[in-house]
Order: sequence, then structure tokens, then C-alpha cells
Amino acid sequence: MAGLLRRGARQIAVVGGGPSGFYTAQYLLKYLGGSLQQLDMFERLPAPYGLVRYGVAPDHPEVKNCIAQFEAVAENPAFRFFGNVPVGDTLPGQQSVKLEELREAYDAVVLSYGTIRERRLGVPGEDLGNVISAREFVGWYNGHPEHQQLPADLHGKNVVIVGQGNVALDCARMLLADPSYLRKTDITETALQHLHSSGIQRVSVVGRRGPIEAAFTIKELRELTKLSGVACHVDKHHVDFTQDERDYIKATRRITRMMKLLADVAVAPDTHADGVKHCDIQFFLSPKEFRESTDNGGRVGEVVFNVMKLEGDIGRRRAVPTGQERTLPADLVIKSIGYQGHSIDPALPYDPTRNVIRHDGVGRVSGLDGVYCSGWIKNGPAGIIATTMVDANNTARAIADDFSDANAAGPTAAAGSGDGGDDRDDKREQLVNRIAPQAVSFEQWKKLEAWERQQGKQLGKPAEKCTDAEQMLHICHNAPS
Ligand SMILES: Cc1cc2nc3c(=O)[nH]c(=O)nc-3n(C[C@H](O)[C@H](O)[C@H](O)COP(=O)(O)OP(=O)(O)OC[C@H]3O[C@@H](n4cnc5c(N)ncnc54)[C@H](O)[C@@H]3O)c2cc1C
Repeated sequence: MAGLLRRGARQIAVVGGGPSGFYTAQYLLKYLGGSLQQLDMFERLPAPYGLVRYGVAPDHPEVKNCIAQFEAVAENPAFRFFGNVPVGDTLPGQQSVKLEELREAYDAVVLSYGTIRERRLGVPGEDLGNVISAREFVGWYNGHPEHQQLPADLHGKNVVIVGQGNVALDCARMLLADPSYLRKTDITETALQHLHSSGIQRVSVVGRRGPIEAAFTIKELRELTKLSGVACHVDKHHVDFTQDERDYIKATRRITRMMKLLADVAVAPDTHADGVKHCDIQFFLSPKEFRESTDNGGRVGEVVFNVMKLEGDIGRRRAVPTGQERTLPADLVIKSIGYQGHSIDPALPYDPTRNVIRHDGVGRVSGLDGVYCSGWIKNGPAGIIATTMVDANNTARAIADDFSDANAAGPTAAAGSGDGGDDRDDKREQLVNRIAPQAVSFEQWKKLEAWERQQGKQLGKPAEKCTDAEQMLHICHNAPS
């Protein structure tokens, strides 16, 4: 009888409190309704929201409006947030939870832990000083507690950003924008001060293919071209297209608009006035070597590039070296070539080539019953927040379908049926008790959020983030409600 009564009552664990975790939770609540008895989210950091908090540029606050939807999820009585609780991985001083423990304690486990590592270029000199990743730089200006010791000095004049996605343009904008523009955002005070006193004059945003292939979007490019006190440059030969290219460009409105903007930049009068900073958008260059500075031993001084040309059909062209080289001075290099996933458990069917979890194309993790995935760790580190929402819907739908099939199969259906869950309830209780001393609940996170807003108010900005993990925990656990 107990089994029958329990049929349909479900407990689900979500690993990762970024957009994919929250959107999956939102759709699970929608599809499973009252039968979703417990929806527990495990997040390695004390604060939720993943890259919405630690990736999205501070001067794009409108992008963070999705947080209102995540807060609505958190208000559901079935939802619990366990911040500061990593699954698989551990940070110093933290206890982690094992995937197996979650599988024993929940009817389903959704892996939405994003891609928190970075790719390497594999180019000589990559480990020189002042060669950093966009992940480190973005995390630093956004107050990520693990990236507060920026391994870079911003006093040099020339910066090379390798990569031409929107993250690269975010980095360029942060480096070139007038600090008074950033002052009213939630960029950290430390980052603001360093950027204010930086000696940066020229930022080159470099890609190995041509303008047609560039990954950035027009909104971000336009923002860069409109930055006050910044002159953007594009080599006009690079926007002098062949007839085939012109036909290709004309066929897609998005590309037409982008090429028009790049062409406008290319023919704009050059500005060399004092006080103007420069942003060079450079195409057809692939880094070959980072060379040490002759003045600053151990640090990068210049980047040698292979000059590239394109081969293949337009739309699928690949870059190949021409045999020529070009060298750009570089006091700082930011590699913006993508984030990278990793496996948090040896039992996971992890694809080391694509750096994603293997799944059935919808979100069921291959070979692990009751385990699902969503977001960047499922699809790779590309796509905007809206993309993760659509993807999360697919994963949640698959879970709801599987539960419904299990219900139809009757009370004796095997693991994942929700039947005979007394053992699961015990395991879940033990697990929650074990992590309780370190965990941050959603209410406790809200105390930190209130503290950050209060700090920000004093500085005339929306928030001043707490960047020290210990202090974050102290505020969460000890600040009055
Ligand atoms: C620099 C940057 C700027 C961006 N700007 C925009 C923008 O302006 N607009 C837009 O729409 N999109 C933007 N995006 C894309 C957007 O951030 C992603 O689409 C989205 O965040 C992916 O969501 P996710 O949940 O899969 O991953 P994430 O956002 O990375 O969330 C994953 C979460 O899992 C947690 N986690 C990791 N490992 C574990 C573990 N072992 N245990 C528990 N928790 C774990 C992480 O701490 C994190 O909170 C940007 C991305 C970057 C990198």
C-alpha cells in the first residue's frame, strides 16, 4: 500500500545552479506539478546563477532579468537550494557529494554543471606571464571568488585578444571603456580601480578566419564601435569581398548587417588624436607563438601569427596558413577560445573529444538510468541563455515522459519509478544532514544578495559583490534575516 501511495511522488536532484539548472527545474515543476515532491539543487559556489552572475558583462544588466524567473522557481515549496555543495569536485574545505549518492537518494538526477574549465591553444609560450584566459579575466571583473588574484598586470599598452566571439568583445569593451561608464555597473571596485589605472592604449581582437566567419554578433560589435574615446579599425582589404562572397552575404540579413557595419568601420576616418584608445579587429591571423618580452623577463612581449587564408565553400571554409607571418606587440594576451567541460565522476560517459556528457540527443545520459543532462555540459560551451532555456525544456520533457512511462508500468517498475522510496527518503535525509553545516540555502543566499546591494548603494552602483568565499559563507550563515 505504501508503494502505491508513493507512486508518482518524485524527488529530483539538479547539479548546478546556472541557467540550465534553473530552467530545467522550472520545466520540471511545470510538467510534474504536485507529483514533484522534492526538487533539490546542488551548487558548488555559495551563490547561484552560474555565468549570469560570473560571466555576463556588468554593463549588460538587462541580460540578468532571467534571475526573476529563477527566483520564482526558488519560491516553490518543493524547491531547495544547497549552495557551497559541489558534486564530484571539491573546493578546499568543502565536502562534496558523490553522483552515486544522488542516484540512491533521488528518482532522477539532472547534470547541469556547465563548463567551468578552459581550452588551451597548445602554442609555445602559452604559459608565459600575462597570457591569461578570458575565463580568468571575466571571472575577475565579475567578482568570482576563485579569480580574484588576476595573474596579469594591466599597465602595458598593447593587448591581444585571441578569439572573435562575444566574450572576446566583452573583454575588449571592459579594457577600453571609460571607467566612468563602468562605474554604475556591478563590476567589482578592485577591477574598476585596476582598469582605471591601466596603461592600455590598443586592443587587437584577432581571429583566424574572415569577417564572414566571425562569431561575434552585431549588437556587441556595435557597442564596441560606439564606445566613447575609442577608435575601431578594420583593414579595408578584409571587407573587400569577391562576387561569391557578396552573394553569400546578401542571402542572410544577419551577415549583411554585420558586414555593412564592418565596412563602415573600415572606411571611417582614422583617429590618432591623443587620448583616443584603439580597437583593431584583425582577421586571418592564427597565433603561432607567444614570445617573451625583452624588458619584462617571464612575461609575454609579442605574439607571432600565421597569416591565414580560407579554403572550401563559403559558409564552411577553413583557415590554412599562407606561409607568411605577422607579429603584434602584446603586453597582455587574453585567450578567448572557449570554456571547457569536464567529468565530475568516473562513471559518467564523458566524451573527451567534444568535452560533453554523452546522451541520447534529448538529455538522457547514455548508460546511466535516471541521470539526465542539460545546458553547456550537455551541448558544449556555446549558445545564449535563451538557448539553454529551450534545451532545458527538452530535458525536463524527457524526464516527465520517463516518469509517466514508469507510472504506466505499475508499482513494481524498477529504479526511477518512485515506488518503495522509504530507503531513498532515508538516504536523502542522511545526505542533507551531512551537508547541512556547509550548505547555503536560498534564504541564506538572499542575505548575501541584500548585503551586496547595501554595499553597492554606498558606492552608487547596483551591487558590490563579495569576492571572498569565506566572507560569503560568513554572511550567508550569520547575517541577521
Ligand atoms: C563571458 C560570458 C558572457 C556571456 N554573456 C551572455 C549574454 O550577454 N547573454 C546571454 O544570453 N548569454 C551569455 N552568455 C552565455 C550564458 O552564460 C550561457 O548560455 C549559460 O550560462 C549556460 O548555462 P549553464 O547552466 O549550462 O552553465 P553555467 O552558467 O556555467 O552554470 C553552471 C553552474 O554549475 C555549477 N557547478 C559547476 N560544477 C559543479 C559541481 N561539480 N557541483 C555543483 N555545481 C557545479 C557552477 O558553479 C555554475 O553555477 C555568456 C557566457 C559567457 C562565458
